[in-house]
Amino acid sequence: MAVLAAIVVALGHPLLKPSSDSTATPGQDFSPFLPAPSLSDRPPSHAPHRESRGALDESDGVVPDGVTVLDDEVPAVANLDAELLDALRRAAQNAADDGITFTVNSGWRSAAYQKELLRKAVAQHGSEAEAARWVATATTSPHVAGDAVDIGPDRATDWLSEHGSAYGLCRIYRNEPWHFELRTDAADRGCPRMYADPTQDPRMRQ
Ligand SMILES: [Zn+2]
Repeated sequence: MAVLAAIVVALGHPLLKPSSDSTATPGQDFSPFLPAPSLSDRPPSHAPHRESRGALDESDGVVPDGVTVLDDEVPAVANLDAELLDALRRAAQNAADDGITFTVNSGWRSAAYQKELLRKAVAQHGSEAEAARWVATATTSPHVAGDAVDIGPDRATDWLSEHGSAYGLCRIYRNEPWHFELRTDAADRGCPRMYADPTQDPRMRQ
């Protein structure tokens, strides 16, 4: 037993010695043991949190003022279909020669943004049937797919109505002169016949 005790003491003794005396400071040693009230004791009202409603922002496709088709930073533009965006930029370069700038009023939208637009349209127009003439669902909207862009101002949409088919850029709905999509064979065949409004579009009947 005396031998065993001697071994335990011999092994244990070095562990009892403070280590790293020369480098550790009291602050570093003790800070992990300080209470951290800020993580759990803070009243909920002080905790920043994203509202689940009404917090749509640029990451949902909300477009700040003055964005053009050349903008690479704004998701509403950057998330558009690459071919559509390329056609828009080629057209925009030639329109610039006529002193015309393509402003993006809306482009790609998140499903959440589209749902909010539809909710507002139903409230504004009084019925889902009437709202459907203007705003698609998150499932059917070509904006959510990145396949549609709403251009302004009127001078730009007039220019695109006249010259857009050469770039495959076509109006789709008679009631939406600002809404353009890519129809790749339009350069050869011209743009397809327009629908009166989105309710005539077979893609909307899903
Ligand atoms: Zn549109």
